Amino acid sequence: MKESIPMSSADLSEADVEAVLEVVRSGRLALGPKTAEFERRMAEYCGVKHAIATNSGTAALHVLVIASGIGPGDEVLVPSFTFAASVNAILYERATPVFVDIEPDTYNLDPDDVARKITPRTKAIMAVDVFGHPAEWDALQAVADKHGLPIIDDCCEALGAEYRGRKLGQFGVAGAFAFYPNKQMTTGEGGIIVTNDDRINELSRSLCNQGRGEKGEWLEHERLGYNYRLDEMSSALGVSQLKRLPEFLDKRENVARAYIERLRNCDWATPMPVRAHVRKSWFVFVITMAPGIDLARVQKYVAEKHGIPLRRYFNPVHEQTYVARQFGSTVGPLPVTDAVSKRTLAIPFHNNLSLEEIEQVVDVLGAAVGYAS
Ligand SMILES: *Cc1c(COP(=O)(O)O)cnc(C)c1O
Repeated sequence: MKESIPMSSADLSEADVEAVLEVVRSGRLALGPKTAEFERRMAEYCGVKHAIATNSGTAALHVLVIASGIGPGDEVLVPSFTFAASVNAILYERATPVFVDIEPDTYNLDPDDVARKITPRTKAIMAVDVFGHPAEWDALQAVADKHGLPIIDDCCEALGAEYRGRKLGQFGVAGAFAFYPNKQMTTGEGGIIVTNDDRINELSRSLCNQGRGEKGEWLEHERLGYNYRLDEMSSALGVSQLKRLPEFLDKRENVARAYIERLRNCDWATPMPVRAHVRKSWFVFVITMAPGIDLARVQKYVAEKHGIPLRRYFNPVHEQTYVARQFGSTVGPLPVTDAVSKRTLAIPFHNNLSLEEIEQVVDVLGAAVGYAS
């Protein structure tokens, strides 16, 4: 069945289309001025010194893992309640992900569990700002500083979010954002590294560009590198979308508010709370379903009868087959992750969801719950 309301939808304007066409007409498709401009504007937006564009958020995370000196046998603390890419970036370097439990309200890394799981082999912490709600940075940074550990911020879901008035991207040693079409803004595929650290900047640029040095010749390679560069068309789309980002974030907040308002009197679902000292940048809209409701039946009913998609955000990474096969026997208990992931559903969410569509989603969900509890 065709989806009557899409799960997500990029917000593309005529200006976005023109920006891409202009690059194509120019003939300069790679390593040109648009990528440099996108990096400059993104660093300015986030309030950091450096930005390095990449061809995915996953590539950005992988580069940050390498640049942090993480290698075989090193332990990296990471939540299991995240997108697989956070953990994969660690696995690419044959390091060991040590799964940390989450807070019961924001579903972000629990700083107390981070402290408990630090060992002499711990090399770094990977924080994730889940669904665009900033992690509890003061507490996380205090634990990290006490043990001299760097924090890599997987802020791929949180562009524009603020913690105590400071934009994400400024926290930890570096952050990674992503621009897949379901994110707050898009470049098609794409990502970016942001940092105030000169050494991470230089190393990341080299790693993304086949290991070339800053001043070396085109065919001189100083280290094992990758081709993780973002092309000029994508960068031009990024520049154009970034201009519209404040408007996007406002629209998303309004859609979220409308959902929260309509869910207020429903005893079968709870929207996620937002802490007073943060600005959440809404990525997806996730509700926590009351106990006793069969989520698979709700999903099936809503999809088959009404063509409305729902998604299990997240199936924990430690339960994915390839991770369970390798680490299943050593993963400790993650009671909050286990409980939360059994009850969370992402519902359709994008900039231009209408009030009628919002009401329809909530009504259909209510009917599905009646059928599935
Ligand atoms: C989107 C996302 C990424 C990166 O995804 P790409 O598809 O590689 O751009 C990484 N981590 C999290 C938590 C994400 O949501």
